[in-house]
Formats: sequence, C-alpha cells, structure tokens
Amino acid sequence: ATPTAVMVGTGVAASHGILIKGADALERAHRIRTIVFDKTGTLTRGKPVVTDVRLYDTQASLKEVMHLAAALEVQSEHPLASAVINFAAEGLGIGQQQVGGGAKVTAGTKGAPAARRLDWVRPAKDVLSVAGKGVLGWVAVGPEISRSPIKGKEGPRDVKVILGNKQMMADEGIPISKAVDDYMRDMEAKCCTCVMVALAGSIVAVLAVTDPLKPEARGVVAALARRGLAVHLVTGDNWRTARAIAEQLAIINVCAECLPGAKVDKIRGSKKVVAMVGDGVNDSPALAAADVGIAVGSGTDIAIEAADYVLMRDDLEDVLVAIDLSRKTFNRIR
Ligand code: ADP
Ligand code: MG
Repeated sequence: ATPTAVMVGTGVAASHGILIKGADALERAHRIRTIVFDKTGTLTRGKPVVTDVRLYDTQASLKEVMHLAAALEVQSEHPLASAVINFAAEGLGIGQQQVGGGAKVTAGTKGAPAARRLDWVRPAKDVLSVAGKGVLGWVAVGPEISRSPIKGKEGPRDVKVILGNKQMMADEGIPISKAVDDYMRDMEAKCCTCVMVALAGSIVAVLAVTDPLKPEARGVVAALARRGLAVHLVTGDNWRTARAIAEQLAIINVCAECLPGAKVDKIRGSKKVVAMVGDGVNDSPALAAADVGIAVGSGTDIAIEAADYVLMRDDLEDVLVAIDLSRKTFNRIR
C-alpha cells in the first residue's frame, strides 16, 4: 500500500472513532486469522444486574445479607461489584444508580423479621480482592447474625464475609450444599453468573447476575466467521455460563475459568496471526501479547494503552470496519 492509501485508511478509521496506533497496526489487521474475545464488557454490555437471589440457612434477612455484601464490594472494582452494590442499595431504599428492571427475589428459606436494624453493621475491614475468584473481608455484625454469640456480650463482633465463585469457596473451605449447587446450575444455564455469599463459614445467599449481550455481538461474530476467521471466547467466568453465552453467539471455541495469565498463554499459543478484543484491566496483558490488540471503548485506560486499536464508540461493528479497512488498504479483500 502507498503512504497515501495508509493515510486514507487511517482517516476513514478515525471517522468511525477507530484509533489506530501506526501504519504497522493497520497492516497487521489484514492478516488476522484468529480473533479472541473477552466476554464481560466486550461481548456483553458490562453493566451486570442482579436478577435473582436465594437465601439459605440464615437468620439474616435479605437486606442484611446485601448490606454485608455491599460493605465488601464497595472496595472492589469488578463489574460484578456494581451489580451487588446497586441491588443492595435498591433494597435499602438508597439506590439512585441504575438498578435494572426489578429483581425477582425468591428466598430459599425465610429471612429474619424486617424490624431488625442495620445500624450496627460497620464498613468491611481487611478487604482482599482475589483476581478471577471474588472478594473477602471482615464485617462487624450483631450476635444473631454471627451465629456464635459470645456469652454475656451483646455488642457487634467481626465475622468473615466471602463473596465469589466456586474456586473462591473451595480456597476458603466453604462447603457448597446440593441446594446451592442445583440453583447455580439452573441460573448458569440461563447465562447468569452466580455470586455466592458466605457468612461465618457457610453460604447464606446466592446472587444470580445477568449481563446482557451487546445487541450487535451475534451479527459481528457471524460476519467474522464468514470472513474466514476463527472466533474464540475467553473469560474468567465459569464454564457453564461461558458455554451458554457462547451458544447464543454461535462461538465454538471457548476457554473459561481463565485467569489473566491464562488469557496471555492462550494468545501466545496461537500459531495463526491473532487478534484479542477486550476492555478490562485484566485484559491488558493479553491485548499487548496479541498481534493485534483491540480495546473496546468503555475500556479502562490501561487496556487502551496496551492496544493497537481503540474502538471509541464501544460498538463491535467497528471490529469489522477495522479489519475490512485493513484488507482494503492492503488489497486482500476475499
Ligand atoms: P472476566 O474475564 O469475565 O472479566 P474475571 O477474571 O474478572 O472475569 O472474574 C472471574 C470471576 O471471578 C467472576 O465471574 C466472578 O465469579 C469472580 N469474581 C471476581 N471478582 C469478583 C467480585 N468482586 N465479586 C464477586 N465475584 C467476583
Ligand atoms: Mg472484560
């Protein structure tokens, strides 16, 4: 391609809100044979909402459980954290953020009387985020919730609260009952991501979180396949949810329960010219490792930094626009 053609190509890209970092990047995109998509925030909208919840084996009310969960998640940056916080805020009547159309609440066992007060719940201490697994910390609660009242002591007491997936619970030695497992299986088949809440050593709630697909996702995946590209999905989310989502998108190649390092290994292991499309902090190493890293708009600064292409409009159609433009510029339209 002539320098003029490259300039024209870059200009057309810019008019679509596609930022290309140099002529090399524009050239490489026409050779892409494999394209790997992150799930959360890339194929999905990245605005997850709690759509269902179950309580198990607890004296605590749903409000109390949500208050404890929110006390931890306010210290997490994960998209799931905002779903939990919004849902808690909604229940506590303090939500002004978007919370999505009325979560259906179906309690597995009966909660405590609504009269119980939340005043004694303090902010979580020693909060630890575990990448790809969840978050844990300590919250002061009254004796009726801690389940192990200290004789003669009525005041609040620190209990360990753990939020996360099966790996998180396994690491922390929290048993998962058949009821919990069955519920999660059902919800995961419906594309939900389940967040378990453990309090003082046992699971007291499961929150089913839905993050809808971007409306253009399916069409874009199909169009990429028509152009001869192998489309892959990688996610830190669990296998069942990942498969359910992949099925909706007609993606056959799925890699789930993938920690950030595993995403990089997957990219490095590709024998073909590979593109990575992602949004999050988690994805930056994979974006940098790919032959062509594509950051989608709502993405974090660090992802934008690591990428060769930045799609400012957060529209997956622009992945096609970018590839087609490169093919056109370098005369390889098939
Ligand atoms: P993704 O590739 O989808 O962005 P991550 O690696 O960020 O996934 O997270 C993987 C999984 O770890 C999530 O699906 C969730 O089960 C769990 N997880 C991570 N952070 C949190 C959190 N703050 N609260 C609850 N669960 C979490
Ligand atoms: Mg993501």
